[in-house]
Amino acid sequence: MTTNTDLKNFTLAQLTDYVHDLGLKPFRASQIFSWLYRPGIHDFSQMTDLSKKVRDLLDHQAYFSRLTPNIKEKSTDGTIKYGFLLEDGAMIESVLIPEQGRNTLCVSSQVGCAMGCGFCVTGAMGFTRNLSPAEIVNQVYAVMEDTGFEGENRVHNLVFMGMGEPLANFDNLITGLEILLDQRGLNFSERRITVSTCGIVPKIRELGEKVKVNLAISLHAVEDRTRDQLMVINKTYPVDDLLAALREFPLPKRRRIMIEYILLDGINDSPDDARLLAKKLKGIRCKINLLPYNESSALPYRTPSRERVEQFQKILWNAGYTVIIRESRGADISAACGQLAGKMKE
Ligand code: SF4
Repeated sequence: MTTNTDLKNFTLAQLTDYVHDLGLKPFRASQIFSWLYRPGIHDFSQMTDLSKKVRDLLDHQAYFSRLTPNIKEKSTDGTIKYGFLLEDGAMIESVLIPEQGRNTLCVSSQVGCAMGCGFCVTGAMGFTRNLSPAEIVNQVYAVMEDTGFEGENRVHNLVFMGMGEPLANFDNLITGLEILLDQRGLNFSERRITVSTCGIVPKIRELGEKVKVNLAISLHAVEDRTRDQLMVINKTYPVDDLLAALREFPLPKRRRIMIEYILLDGINDSPDDARLLAKKLKGIRCKINLLPYNESSALPYRTPSRERVEQFQKILWNAGYTVIIRESRGADISAACGQLAGKMKE
């Protein structure tokens, strides 16, 4: 593993400080930064507007990392799972989900996860480490290299719903987001990026103050007794605290918070659960995604019947919410929510 500095860990402002320390003029930082995220640039020698002296200096002091997929599996429904081997031998996954002419890339933020949600295979793996900003951004860059940076196959949307809890890796997440949003970086719009959290309440507001990306909440139950069983985080930040944080979230105009609700047969899918959910979400500008549980041999939960799922949806509809039933994608390649990297352990 190299001990040189990985320039892909820097925002433009951080890179400006770094090049200053190397004795270079500030404008070099924006030249270098924009090269880092162009297609096919893998070497300082390709940065043709830098002098040979500057390129040699960078070669000596720094490098810029990239990821190449070690695994690429395509599901029968078009979902593509990419597996990346990191410098220290850890594996992570990103999943590309094509949907109605838009491709959404599900990005990982940690190796494993410490949150221990009871229905999640990644949670059952435990936590190994945080991803660096470079490792976060390089997942996106690597998939863009595969799909093309332009054209209809390109990545349109990013969701931080892969392995890990993004808000538990807050600083690296923010740095990664700044690079993804920078016009000279990967130039995503804030509207096209969604960060999903299981409910680390103090970090939710902080996220809203730092970047205006979309917010998704893995809610899955609104009764503390049930949510405590499903999600350990609820014992620290109970449902009402979480919902209060959502009410205070500095949500940009015309945006809504995405509420994710996995339906588990006989656990959180009754009509009473739906009515309580409708009541508790009052006053929160949101839309609700219902996700019928995707069964895994490693976990005891079951998928509810279609009737029960539709009944749950209807109650929320009648209460005035936008509710979408999300079908599980990529189940045949273990790319579905909560299954990332589960297969790699087997
Ligand atoms: Fe972690 Fe998300 Fe799985 Fe919970 S659902 S254990 S937060 S990866």
